[in-house]
Amino acid sequence: MRVAVIGAGYVGLVAAGCLSHSGHDVVCIEKDARKMALLKAGRVPFFEEGLEELVLFGLKRGLLQFDGQMEACQDREIIMIAVGTPARPDGRIDLSQIYAVMDEIVFRARFPQTIVMKSTVPPGFGVNAKERYLERARVPLSYLSNPEFLREGSAVRDWYHPDRIVIGGDDETAISRLARLYAGIDAPIVTMDVSSAEMVKYAANAFLATKISFINEIASLCELVGADILPVSRAVGMDRRIGDQFLQAGLGYGGSCFPKDTCGLDFVSTCNGHAFNLLKAVIEVNKRQRLLAVRRLRHVLGRLHGKTIGVLGLAFKPGTDDVRESPSLEIINLLLDEGADVRAYDPLAMENARRALPDGVFFAPGVMEAVTDCHALLVATAWPEFSTLDWAAVRPVMHPPYLVMDGRNCLAAEELRQKGFLYWGIGRPYPV
Ligand code: NAD
Repeated sequence: MRVAVIGAGYVGLVAAGCLSHSGHDVVCIEKDARKMALLKAGRVPFFEEGLEELVLFGLKRGLLQFDGQMEACQDREIIMIAVGTPARPDGRIDLSQIYAVMDEIVFRARFPQTIVMKSTVPPGFGVNAKERYLERARVPLSYLSNPEFLREGSAVRDWYHPDRIVIGGDDETAISRLARLYAGIDAPIVTMDVSSAEMVKYAANAFLATKISFINEIASLCELVGADILPVSRAVGMDRRIGDQFLQAGLGYGGSCFPKDTCGLDFVSTCNGHAFNLLKAVIEVNKRQRLLAVRRLRHVLGRLHGKTIGVLGLAFKPGTDDVRESPSLEIINLLLDEGADVRAYDPLAMENARRALPDGVFFAPGVMEAVTDCHALLVATAWPEFSTLDWAAVRPVMHPPYLVMDGRNCLAAEELRQKGFLYWGIGRPYPV
């Protein structure tokens, strides 16, 4: 099928790469000139495992093209929208990128096309879009909601092995056309109306965020009663009704989706006269988890002014270079405000973090340079590189009290204690 994908970000580029790999003729439209230059040279502007190979393969076979102009979508039967929908400070979703793209599609449409919304848009958007855009078009256009559930770090695998494909719409021909596009992907297709499909995405993310904040609440209680969150969460997660995913206590969730989608759903609830108190609590707990790290550093080190803190991990999770809403960035800003010297390191996300953080952070070329001269270390991302680090070599280059704050509970606590570190995990017994 002839497809246009608008937006070459984490979602759009994965969609374009995977669809072209499945034999579809895909043009990916991206307005950012820097990204476009890289893509045309077969290079992916961010890290996502397996994606560069797919892009190169598509370019070589001639099934994938990149274009900077919206004209390129004019002759495509399916147009997928995968542009950003960031949050505004009040939690409302900024739909300006979507509006701009919808305007162009409607303006340029010359033959019936199917618009597929992959971006996460608030429930109700699609129904409004029909009146606002489709009725203005010179030709009949179909609109389908097709929310995306891939995870950064395993996005290519997730594309080919989703738990389900959700399609919202009332045009049966367009739904079958989109279902044909996904032929070969072994997953149930669940169809429903547009608003329900939009709601599935928010409900799924809000639920996963709830699991994270819930286990973080249990972790806080564990500390107060002297229990250990690790065996607790493991055994709770073994209950198949609950499941073990998103049940790890830590500094809380980050990334471009959970924070904005939870706040976005809360905003939609408020606008509709519903106080979604459970969701408000999830958001609050997540904010608190980030502050925990700073409070604990203060508790052990006293004033942070003049203290050197190594922050290991800048990406919002391992396997990605994405630092959007990453807890460690917010923590670093707080540490800088308190006058601490920060030495930061991440295996993949250094460049993105450098762009996002103010001056004054020392970006270490390697993990050993990051830990050198530190009074305390904060492990903020569960990269395997940190759990397999030669910790015996770390202590001699640090200063007392050799504090290691394991913000992801990913280190071997006992081993670190035996090596002379003051280890503190989240929801774990603290020996002093
Ligand atoms: P992103 O910011 O990484 O990418 C969006 C891209 O669209 C950018 O490269 C931007 O330059 C481009 N763009 C914006 N306006 C354009 C235009 N008019 N023409 C061409 N290109 C344009 O965003 P993302 O992380 O890929 O997310 C996209 C959407 O998918 C969001 O709604 C997000 O909530 C949703 N989503 C994201 C993920 C994820 O893990 N990142 C997962 C599921 C759903």
